[in-house]
Formats: sequence, C-alpha cells, structure tokens
Amino acid sequence: MKNRTIVIKIGTKVMASSGKTLVPSARDQDQSRAKSRDEARRGIDKDRLKSIVNNIADVLDRGMKVVIVTSGAIGAGMGLLGLKKRPIKLRELQAAASIGQSALMQLYSHYFKKRGYLVGQFLLTQEDFNDRMRYLNIKYTTQTLFHHKAVPIINENDTVSTEEIKCGDNDRLSTLVSDLCHADLLIILTDVDGLLNEKGDVIDFVDDINSKVLRLAKSSECEFGTGGMCSKLEAIKRATASGIECVVANGKAKDVIIDIVNGGKVGTRFGSSGAKLIARKRWIAFSSNPKGTIIVDNGAKDALSNKNKSLLASGIVEVDGDFVIGDVIKITDKNLKEFARGLANYSSFELLKIKGLKTGQVKGALGEKREDEVVHKNNLVIL
Ligand code: GLU
Repeated sequence: MKNRTIVIKIGTKVMASSGKTLVPSARDQDQSRAKSRDEARRGIDKDRLKSIVNNIADVLDRGMKVVIVTSGAIGAGMGLLGLKKRPIKLRELQAAASIGQSALMQLYSHYFKKRGYLVGQFLLTQEDFNDRMRYLNIKYTTQTLFHHKAVPIINENDTVSTEEIKCGDNDRLSTLVSDLCHADLLIILTDVDGLLNEKGDVIDFVDDINSKVLRLAKSSECEFGTGGMCSKLEAIKRATASGIECVVANGKAKDVIIDIVNGGKVGTRFGSSGAKLIARKRWIAFSSNPKGTIIVDNGAKDALSNKNKSLLASGIVEVDGDFVIGDVIKITDKNLKEFARGLANYSSFELLKIKGLKTGQVKGALGEKREDEVVHKNNLVIL
C-alpha cells in the first residue's frame, strides 16, 4: 500500500466552474449562471480543485506516490480572457491554454504548498514519448520529484501541439504516463459516476473491455471529439493490458480519491488483464510511435503469439513504411490486424529484399547477415 504509485487524471469537466471562474474578468462577473456547454467550461472551480488537492495530499501523507495528469488549461484561459465560446482556431486554443496553464499551476502550487508539498510541471507531446531518450528523461525527472516529495503535474503541451503531434487527449496521455512511471493504479476523474449499463446504473467492476463493454460507451462520443467514455475505455484497455488497475469515477463526488484508494465501491473499477511488462517492452508496446509495418504469414503469427519465438525473414509476407534498424514496427497478420510490436533488426529497404527467405539465404541477398532474427523475442511484445 505504502509504495503504490497512483496516476490521477483530472478532466476538464471536473474542474469546470459552472459560475465561479478562476480569475473572473470584468465581463464575467454577471454571467455566473452560464448554461451552455462552452460557458460552463469557462474557468476553474477553485473549491473543487482545493478539495481534490487535499484528498491527494492525504494520500501522499500515507507515503504513496501520486502523479497528476490535469486538464483545464484551455478552460482557465477562457475564463481569464472572458471568452464565452471555446475558440475554434487552433492558435486561439493554444493562446488560451498558454494563459490558462500558468494560472492552473499557480492554483495547484498554492493548495499543495498549504499541505507542505511542492509541485513540478511537465508539458508533453506525443513526440516526447516516441523518442526513447526524452521518454527516459521524463521518467528520471518524475523519480527525482518523488525523491523530493514533490508532485509531478502533467498536461499536454497545447501551445505546440498540432493534430500530428497531439497525444490524442488527456485520457491517452494518462495511460502513457501510467506506463512511464509503472503505476499500480490509474484513476480517471470525470463528471459521470462511472461506466453505465443499459439501465443507466454504474457497473462496479469490468474485467475485460470486450465489444459488449465498448458498445456501452455511446458511439457518438467516439465520433465527435475527445474525452468521452470511448476515449477512456481505449486508454484503460492499454493500461490494464500492461498490468495497471484503473478506476473511472465522478471527480465531483466528495472524497472520491480517498474512497478509491481505500478500495471503496466507487465508480467503475477495471481489473488489470496483463502481466506487468519490463520497462523497455512497455515503451515498445504503448508509448512509441511505430514507423512501419511487417505483415507475416499464419505460421509466423502462431510462432510469435503462442510459442515465444522471434520473427525470422521466412515468415514475412510484405513490408510497409520506411524504417531503419532499431525503429519500432507494427507486426500484423495477412488481414492487417496488428498483433505485436517490436524493434526491427533490419531496415525496411533490407526487408524488402529478404522477405520470405530462409535464414541461410539472407547473407546471399544482402551481402551480410547481422542477426538471425528480424525482431528478437526480447524486443517483441504481443498485444
Ligand atoms: N490539454 C487540455 C487542457 O488543458 C485538455 C485536453 C483533454 O482534456 O483531453 O485544456
């Protein structure tokens, strides 16, 4: 219990003030009964943030480690700028995030300081997870903050994020972070009580995110925008597969974090379905961005999936993308269904020449043979 590492993702809807803004602008003063979705998201509910911080400080007091993945920068920025509607233009969103992020951190810092804790800010993009050195630097800095009993607070670096480099949303970011710091538990706080069944009741426990469970999350959420239950389930699927238990709960409920940490019946708990992977394999499986694809035959699929074998050239049917030695690649079956990821020992250029060949023929085709394995089993993760 004492050494547990917990990642807590706090969604925009949990933070959003329905009236009180973070730092109300003059124009905001008389708009406290804002009703629309956009208006309701302006600003941060300071009292709620304070009580969340106090809950987290109680957890820290017990000797556990906590990493926060926070949203709310854009909302806080909108409050400060007096914007009624969430901007459409990327640069306006980035400006709101830039203004809001520092105000948000000031609040976290203020409330944690009252409880004797420092905070450290991380603003990350997908690229920081793709690059192994940057990934390790984030990890070491997190560990050093733990050593100083400071709380890492992470948000997407909205001011530089564009569609290509976006982590997706903060649900996905929280999974990447959970993997990086080998979390035992990921708590996703939102404004609903958990995953609901067809009757609208909260499902207490889910041990497998199968198609039936996925259907429960509204399809419209998947189509439009980020942050809905679909995006949460996708993120949780990744986390549970690498051995991390997850809980989705209502962040507006009193003492919700304490109740979850105490094992109370709060929200929906998702049991971890996979064994904990070693650190490098976690990175290969969940954080890196694959540079290409190797398509294999059924025999190779079976050998990799069920017999703990490495991938040899003979099982390769086709190669897609442009990758070099050491890049992460996807491995799919002939129906293009991805079932594994690994580090390539050969470039895509080389593989096009040796696909389908027996190991003994590789030297003749390339002029040299470095490794027997195209992907060694130690650098391979079955998904
Ligand atoms: N990074 C965004 C913000 O701080 C939130 C993104 C999300 O919630 O998915 O406003």
